[in-house]
Amino acid sequence: MTNWETIIGLEIHAQLLTESKMFCSCSTKFGAKPNTNICPVCTGQPGVLPVTNKKAIALAIKTAIILNCKIEKTSIFARKNYFYPDLPKDFQISQYELPLAVNGFIDIEVEGVKKRIGITRVHLEEDAGKLVHKGSARIMGAGESLVDYNRTGTPLMEIVTEPDIRSSLEAKVFMETLQHLLQFIGVCDAKMEEGSLRCDANISIRPEGANKFGTKTEVKNMNSFRAVAKALEAEEKRHKEVLQEGGKIIQETRFFDDIAETTIGMRSKESAHDYRYFPEPDLVPIEPEHAWIEEIKKTIVELPTKKAERFEKDFELSKADAEFLTSTPAIADFFENCAKHYSKPKIAANWIMGDLAAYLNANNLTIDKIDFSPLKLAEMLGLIDKGTISGKIAKIVLAEILKTGKNVQDIIKDLGLTQISDESEINNIIDEIINNNPKQVAEFKSGKDPVIMFLVGQVMKASKGRVKPDMAQELLRRALS
Ligand SMILES: [Zn+2]
Repeated sequence: MTNWETIIGLEIHAQLLTESKMFCSCSTKFGAKPNTNICPVCTGQPGVLPVTNKKAIALAIKTAIILNCKIEKTSIFARKNYFYPDLPKDFQISQYELPLAVNGFIDIEVEGVKKRIGITRVHLEEDAGKLVHKGSARIMGAGESLVDYNRTGTPLMEIVTEPDIRSSLEAKVFMETLQHLLQFIGVCDAKMEEGSLRCDANISIRPEGANKFGTKTEVKNMNSFRAVAKALEAEEKRHKEVLQEGGKIIQETRFFDDIAETTIGMRSKESAHDYRYFPEPDLVPIEPEHAWIEEIKKTIVELPTKKAERFEKDFELSKADAEFLTSTPAIADFFENCAKHYSKPKIAANWIMGDLAAYLNANNLTIDKIDFSPLKLAEMLGLIDKGTISGKIAKIVLAEILKTGKNVQDIIKDLGLTQISDESEINNIIDEIINNNPKQVAEFKSGKDPVIMFLVGQVMKASKGRVKPDMAQELLRRALS
């Protein structure tokens, strides 16, 4: 039995968060009526001239910086020629020989082990339109196919990795890490399921220790992180089976069938010369000035890994807590602001990761989209410390704030939720509990001490959690002695 080594390289397409398209002023808004966000430029009418979107270049440069790439002094656009119904011009404006940036890397962590994945290049291009196949996921087997050019010309950034990835799990972790980075710096919303982040993979295997790469295949249609892992696992297994039986891998493009979890051959893989690349004559080269790159650098926020390390140290949090709190810039800002106004960061973190996160998940919301400020949370936590409300009551208060957007103090007053600290008021409740539970009272008096907790529970229930449990116990014992 041969031991095989798997070699994977990824090509990622990320839609850039610009208002308008790459070479015209049409809107990039998702979900518009088909073929409404189009113009003569993006539909390739004769005689039109493209103009490059400066914001798109800035976002790609920003990405190149965080991917540790070298930004080229001059890069040019090229025409990639091919014929397909989603491409009205019959060529895609892309970058070929001289890309925007080269030679970068990302560090990923797979099962506790750090690994560096090289980035070959980052370049700009435009997206194609969208084909909708009726009755099938692909053109084969569809009754009819419709085309929507709204997406045509949307700014895309292509990120190509070195063949440094060695397993389907590494590929998945790489994609997750990249998604997190792109979202964090605000260049792409990076939703694989919605297609704003897409990934194709080149995969081959070779006997362990061999220098020469095996024949690779390209896998397409991986629309989630899970699909990336499943598709590459399936393709790796197929390569092994073919080679083990003395067969040959054919260089081709394969489609991942998400339901059957297998790959299907689509077409033999194109080589670069099939695309007849040539420099785009209608566009000037991109020559970003040093000062502009420096300006872009200044807009980059503290990156998640660094932020998480700082949170661990400054706020004495666990690694898992720090990672959760740096999952988006909005959560990180919320936590940090709250910690400015409240002196126990771990407690604040627990509330954000617990009740608040559960509410956001249940309502499909993000922390920056709700009427709740870090200051309100800090205020509420302060009231728990002061003994005005109990932790249990605070849960009710928080739910009410999130529902109504009202002030902490108003909610506590309106719902009558302040803690009862008046002893005579508590003793009234205790008398009632003693009267209603003669059996338990008798048991306690005969020496079964743990029964006290049942009675405390009854006091808590009757007071709707407004009595401090230790105070309830103390007064109960006194009443029963
Ligand atoms: Zn247009």
